[in-house]
Amino acid sequence: MSHPLASNAKPSSLNGERTDYILVGGGLQSGLMALAISHHQPNARWIIIEQQEKLAGNHTWSFHETDLANDCASWAESIAEYRWPHYQIRVGGRVRTVEIPYRTCSSSHFEKVVTCTAQQARGEILTHTTVADVEKNCVVLGDGRRLDGAVVIDNRGPAPRNAGSFAGGFQKFWGFELELNQDWPHANPIVMDDQIDQEDGFRFIYTLPMERRRVLVEDTRFSNTTSIDREECLEKVRAYVISRGCHDWRIVREEHGVLPMPTNGFMPGSGLPMLAGGYRGGWFHAATGYSFPMALRVAQTIATNPIDQLADALQRLSQEHAWRGRFSRFLNRLLFELVKPQTRYQIFRRFYRVLGEPAIARFYGHRFTALDAFRIVVGVPPMGLQPLKFIRSYKRLPSRQVVAPTSNQPIKVPG
Ligand SMILES: Cc1cc2nc3c(=O)[nH]c(=O)nc-3n(C[C@H](O)[C@H](O)[C@H](O)COP(=O)(O)OP(=O)(O)OC[C@H]3O[C@@H](n4cnc5c(N)ncnc54)[C@H](O)[C@@H]3O)c2cc1C
Repeated sequence: MSHPLASNAKPSSLNGERTDYILVGGGLQSGLMALAISHHQPNARWIIIEQQEKLAGNHTWSFHETDLANDCASWAESIAEYRWPHYQIRVGGRVRTVEIPYRTCSSSHFEKVVTCTAQQARGEILTHTTVADVEKNCVVLGDGRRLDGAVVIDNRGPAPRNAGSFAGGFQKFWGFELELNQDWPHANPIVMDDQIDQEDGFRFIYTLPMERRRVLVEDTRFSNTTSIDREECLEKVRAYVISRGCHDWRIVREEHGVLPMPTNGFMPGSGLPMLAGGYRGGWFHAATGYSFPMALRVAQTIATNPIDQLADALQRLSQEHAWRGRFSRFLNRLLFELVKPQTRYQIFRRFYRVLGEPAIARFYGHRFTALDAFRIVVGVPPMGLQPLKFIRSYKRLPSRQVVAPTSNQPIKVPG
């Protein structure tokens, strides 16, 4: 599908040609927008401006195949680098195989796909270039040059606008990609395995077997604090890998993150002075800290609406997500305020016991129904509740001031 661009597009001042979309920040959201625009509007010119030396940072983005369904599959399928037919959850002594095809994309693969698309379509990628100021139709670069476009979309990652308004918990993790001297014993991902010491909230190991002898092993927690210690995570990972019978391996890559799981604050896409996607626009799932499924839909929305109607289109998308955003924040309040850290595993055990595959896919994709929400919260309450803390959390002023993270830096919480 293609549509005419708004007629008031101005020429870019960098190369003299008209730029339609200026995408600020070269991470997940800008990359997805570039792919969607190139697919839906092959004649549109876009430019990504990234401050680092390359696009996409250092991540492994995982998602359900169902996130790509229908409208996004045609342009996003190529980013699925690794594919598995299903994955396992091992929580509270229960083992469940979740029959939803699982996909992963590394930063390096994502960068290749976006770069290749730029060459084939009418795209341009500027790296090593910092954007100092962002306006509706223009950006000012760090060296003072101005670049005009028909529209500017701010995808610079987590926004400082959340400072002072944050309360909640965090999904924090440190992952080690390992090369083994023998085969990994599991052919499919294990997304949660809580057979490790339960310290610092609900803690589990996440494994992605990328090849028979290459696996990403992550120590992950749903915690009330942001601190994370590499050596301690490595110790847990080492013990886990040895428990799988693998003694001889080396680390080939690492990644870590501290993702916000707020109990309050901005809803996806709301309260923004200008067009913004990804974390910058609040387009993430509060109850997982993940942004991939929403980033797909934001990209699809940007690419399939006329430029002069983008604000309204994003507003409609924001409204679609609003009640789910509120419900996810309520879930975080239950998880981080009502349930004691050491008994949080019960929430996940129940989640994977009561929900079928379609409901699990809808939950992670931020497209859950009211019935799904009902089934998630209604049932026998878990042990180890702290009702007073929960009630007080509604009265408490924002409990922490957050300096929003860059993709790979832990959030720092003063005081
Ligand atoms: C290690 C890690 C793994 C994750 N795994 C998953 C996952 O499996 N699934 C999932 O759904 N979510 C995951 N997330 C969460 C989320 O999807 C990612 O953080 C995602 O990258 C957010 O996308 P974004 O485009 O909003 O921001 P980013 O991908 O962080 O991109 C922002 C970009 O803007 C650039 N930038 C910032 N300021 C400027 C400036 N002034 N000028 C120019 N460029 C600038 C940054 O350098 C960066 O490249 C993960 C997060 C981390 C940290």
